[in-house]
Amino acid sequence: MFLPQEIIRKKRNGEALTAQEIQFFVQGITNNTIGDGQIAALAMAVYFQDMTMAERVALTCAMRDSGTVLSWAHLELDGPIVDKHSTGGVGDMVSLMLGPMVAACGGFVPMISGRGLGHTGGTLDKLDAIPGYQTTVDNARFLRVVQDAGVAIIGQTGDLAPADKRIYAVRDITATVESIAMITGSILSKKLASGLEALVMDVKVGSGAFMPTFEASEALAKSIVAVANGAGCRTSALLTDMNQVLASSAGNGVEVREAVRYLNGEYQNPRLHAVTMALCAEMLISAGLASDEGEARSKLQVVLDSGKAADTFGRMVAQLGGPSDFIERYDHYLPSAAIIRPVYAAHGGVVTTMNTRDLGLAVVAMGGGRRAAADRLDYAVGLTEMIRLGEAVDAQTPLALIHAQTEDQFAEAARMVQAAVTIGDTRPAALPEVYRRITLADL
Ligand code: URA
Repeated sequence: MFLPQEIIRKKRNGEALTAQEIQFFVQGITNNTIGDGQIAALAMAVYFQDMTMAERVALTCAMRDSGTVLSWAHLELDGPIVDKHSTGGVGDMVSLMLGPMVAACGGFVPMISGRGLGHTGGTLDKLDAIPGYQTTVDNARFLRVVQDAGVAIIGQTGDLAPADKRIYAVRDITATVESIAMITGSILSKKLASGLEALVMDVKVGSGAFMPTFEASEALAKSIVAVANGAGCRTSALLTDMNQVLASSAGNGVEVREAVRYLNGEYQNPRLHAVTMALCAEMLISAGLASDEGEARSKLQVVLDSGKAADTFGRMVAQLGGPSDFIERYDHYLPSAAIIRPVYAAHGGVVTTMNTRDLGLAVVAMGGGRRAAADRLDYAVGLTEMIRLGEAVDAQTPLALIHAQTEDQFAEAARMVQAAVTIGDTRPAALPEVYRRITLADL
């Protein structure tokens, strides 16, 4: 017999909890016998006293098991179940290409994605820009699309890791989000509930990242790799750069357009390509679909060049309710903003830094992201042809094309973009796209 208050006291005093105590507490959260006050108290105790890796594994498994855990065995799929998760960025539409690319190479990708959070875009919001695409489907349909198309990207269904919903809601209003132990449990409980064999984590670093410093991003990556492997899922992480908008566009419809053009071979932003290929290669190796980086990259290039990855994306869209000719006629289906006009550099020089977070907020300000949970999004607004770090500019050089619905929106976004892009005299050193890889062997 456990008492919630004794568990809280033990953690408050800096002792490690047992797996049984953690399971008891999480079960109480799931069946509502533990109240928000007790969740808040434990969250604050964990925030200050932290958790050992063994406690984090127990927390993650208990949260994962608080609802349905998908099982794939009965489908007898002829490939591994593998997924990627990112801590979120601006102009990061990697998932839209990566899922189909890995599926085209023989993996099965059941990707449960989220909506935009703060300044970052959400994969689900991007997919909602496709008319008819259903991001909310039941588990049976989800499994069927993964089986047929090799990939399905949908939203979290109510019965996946329900404990996380309650815990996150309490953390959000009690200043306890910033705990690596709880972030690890929150992210992994949802991912592992989809029954993965392998996972690759993309932890962003830089001015548009969720974690505030390189060291914090690295600590989160190490925690996730340790805990996910401890919970039985082969997992590695890449630390990737978010000191500028990753691709050329940021916004919902405009990012879907860039993703389809990437898959069709019409335009591939080099930084986006570098990060996408690195993450896809890591997935193929981790899932046993390639023996090394060279083999992985050549397989991926084949499915891009042959159109198989683009076809896979098209099949997923059609099977989830979108148009069957989306990859050919994306411009016909995606919404277009009333005003599409450049914002120019205020003076000449070279782009030295970008406040990527504020560029994400410029998209939010135009209605491309939410200020409140119930906000309806505008899928047409955003930024395209985004300038990159190190590029030379003069007063006639566009920093970006702004897609806005009104002149007021345009003026506000233009002001924000100009303020977020710093122009100086000296070209900055080029930043790598991938800072480092973290595997179990590195811990
Ligand atoms: N994203 C999550 O899903 N959970 C967290 O705790 C933080 C970011």
